[in-house]
Amino acid sequence: MVRKLSALNIEDFGHNSYRDYVQALVDDRKRNPSKAQFQALREEWKNRVDQYVNNGGSPVVVQLWPEAFPAKVTFLNLYSHPNENSVQISILGELKKIRRLLNSCPCCGELGTPGTLDHYLPKDDYPHFSVIPANLVPMCDICQGEKKTKVGNQQNPRFFIHPYFDNFLTDELVKLEIIPPFEHPHFTLVPSKNLPAQDKAIVISHYKELNIHKRYNEFLETSYIKLLRAADDIRKDHGNVKNRIKDFHKLAKLDGTNSWDSILYSSALENEDLLNFLQNEDLPEYL
Ligand SMILES: [Zn+2]
Repeated sequence: MVRKLSALNIEDFGHNSYRDYVQALVDDRKRNPSKAQFQALREEWKNRVDQYVNNGGSPVVVQLWPEAFPAKVTFLNLYSHPNENSVQISILGELKKIRRLLNSCPCCGELGTPGTLDHYLPKDDYPHFSVIPANLVPMCDICQGEKKTKVGNQQNPRFFIHPYFDNFLTDELVKLEIIPPFEHPHFTLVPSKNLPAQDKAIVISHYKELNIHKRYNEFLETSYIKLLRAADDIRKDHGNVKNRIKDFHKLAKLDGTNSWDSILYSSALENEDLLNFLQNEDLPEYL
């Protein structure tokens, strides 16, 4: 599923600090009224960006900034209409390059190059983070369509995992329960038992709000049959199904501990009844 991305350092984009980057964005404004707007907001803008970076963009801490709303269009234009020689254009270009090099969506883990950069805190409500690299996360189009401008609600103020900041992403976040009959099982994703309660709550809301359960079940419609077919072939070669699934798992983990295939194989390896079925029992005729 989801995947940890290396934290972004603003130094790698040619600025000494986020405060310097914000100052450069302000200095880049040549004409009023946007110049005056930015100058008036400058110091608080820097503080808000520092707060974002120091708290991993968590909406529990990072609140809305109503005083910035009169300048909303100016903030949004930084992202949607950057000038050719603007301070942010090379950064946006670099982020797009990082996105294109990924082979799976860091937010759901589905294979394929993520098609977009998503504003972790949505730019409509947090326009002052529209060109802040830490807030721009590669994402597939399906995830973006599900996430929209959601952040959290009163009961659960933070819905989503942040791929740059949440270090628990390197662990396995979920397990797949494969419930018999194994010819046509029922699948349920459950959070990993080892996760601390606070992380578990975020994993649950992240998967729910991005509709990952349904999407993963659709993926399993073909992937589980592939697993049955592989078991059939392995048995014809007099091989050991469990050992071969271990090999499949090692290979799948190269796409991330939480990639969709990796979760399937890792969960199969912990399911003795399924392993017994795959090795010894009659496999479905439809193979
Ligand atoms: Zn996705």
